[in-house]
Amino acid sequence: NTSTLEQIKEIIKQKHVELLHLQFVDLEGVLKHVTVTAEQLDDVVEGKIMFDGSSIKGFSPINRSDLYLLPDLQTFAVLPWTVEEGYAEARFLCSVMNPDGTLFDGDPRNVLKKTVERAKQKGYTISVGPELEFFLFKTDENGNPTTTPQDNGGYFEPSPKDLGERVRLDIYRALKAMGFTIEASHHEVAEGQHEINFKYADALSSADNATTYKWVVKTIAKKYGLHATFMPKPIFGINGSGMHVNISLFKDGENAFFDPADDNQLSETAYQFIAGLLHNVKSFAAITNPLVNSYKRLVPGYEAPCYIAWSASNRSALIRIPAKRGLATRVELRCPDPSANPYLAFAVIAEAGLDGVEKELTCPAPIDEDIFHMTNERRKELRIENLPGSLGKAIEELENGTIGRHTLGDHVFNEYIAMKKNEWDSYRTAVHAWEIEHYQAKF
Ligand code: GLN
Ligand code: MG
Ligand code: MG
Ligand code: MG
Repeated sequence: NTSTLEQIKEIIKQKHVELLHLQFVDLEGVLKHVTVTAEQLDDVVEGKIMFDGSSIKGFSPINRSDLYLLPDLQTFAVLPWTVEEGYAEARFLCSVMNPDGTLFDGDPRNVLKKTVERAKQKGYTISVGPELEFFLFKTDENGNPTTTPQDNGGYFEPSPKDLGERVRLDIYRALKAMGFTIEASHHEVAEGQHEINFKYADALSSADNATTYKWVVKTIAKKYGLHATFMPKPIFGINGSGMHVNISLFKDGENAFFDPADDNQLSETAYQFIAGLLHNVKSFAAITNPLVNSYKRLVPGYEAPCYIAWSASNRSALIRIPAKRGLATRVELRCPDPSANPYLAFAVIAEAGLDGVEKELTCPAPIDEDIFHMTNERRKELRIENLPGSLGKAIEELENGTIGRHTLGDHVFNEYIAMKKNEWDSYRTAVHAWEIEHYQAKF
């Protein structure tokens, strides 16, 4: 990890870095950057680079549009694919600042920074390990994505069924060169679907990593003439792509979720955190599952959750507790998908769990039966509720809940609700191919 300005200057000199990309994300978590020359490094680190915030989704109004980028030195990375091609560029992830030097409220990264700060006030560090799945699709002669997956491999299948091995190897190399610790990589259940796992870290670094990962996956896939997508459910009838979020709290260097004396070796804090997630999930789903398409993944039968329950091992439950204990004790929230803005998603998940700890909520009993194959009566008996069934429903829950506004702050909350209402309305009023197919000839 490069940390000091001196080290960065040394690398820039050694590798002949010419250009620096100053990166940040918009309200949807989509990566943006402006490029400056390496000679401008001193101005860059002093936060002197300005941009027009009114052209970024969810940022500032046109009359207060000047914003500044303050790079986080820890995120400095030379882009390995540029070096391979005989030139050198580097990037920083940045926080967006107001002209007066304060944090800009509309920046999703700043939202997560505030959550991290609030947790710290309570003595906690938030640790997050996300697992982002993606599809590789073939492209057509114009380079546009088709709807044909690159291969028809399945879970853990090797080549020759898995045609993504070389792409994943190159993604691994690029991420590693950028400072990632990669833990595993494999072909996923669905055809053309893959997952590469990187090591957990503090919440902000993990959101930075998730953002970088999505960019690198797409960039490397393109070199192979493939289109990588993090769309949650690109194909009907087979698994969609999730972003499981493994999360835990640390206090004084110890994992606050671990208690060897408990039956499940989970602490009171862990149970309260789980209770907080279960209690708040309906109102944060619009953040963790932000698209119309997100709700087509959250249906029974595809390893994605749709019922609000937790379990030690059950993959049909919303929350699972992976077997690892000690420092690795964590809860795995299975509803988020990789189209979510990771900064906002990790913030709202952490705040939801901390809400349970703060209010000392009681955790319901775990559900170890397969919930997908339970009768409605049985689910009713066990008081198992459903996740929101559509983006429309989820927006309503976000708007009426408290966790969203508390976490996002007024600026992001209002912009987000407005953006999502527009999106839902545009979908709701469009006439889809399904309707033509089912109704046109019959009625
Ligand atoms: N693809 C599944 C989902 O949508 C997860 C499958 C898995 O990782 N076991 O969440
Ligand atoms: Mg996984
Ligand atoms: Mg997976
Ligand atoms: Mg998982």
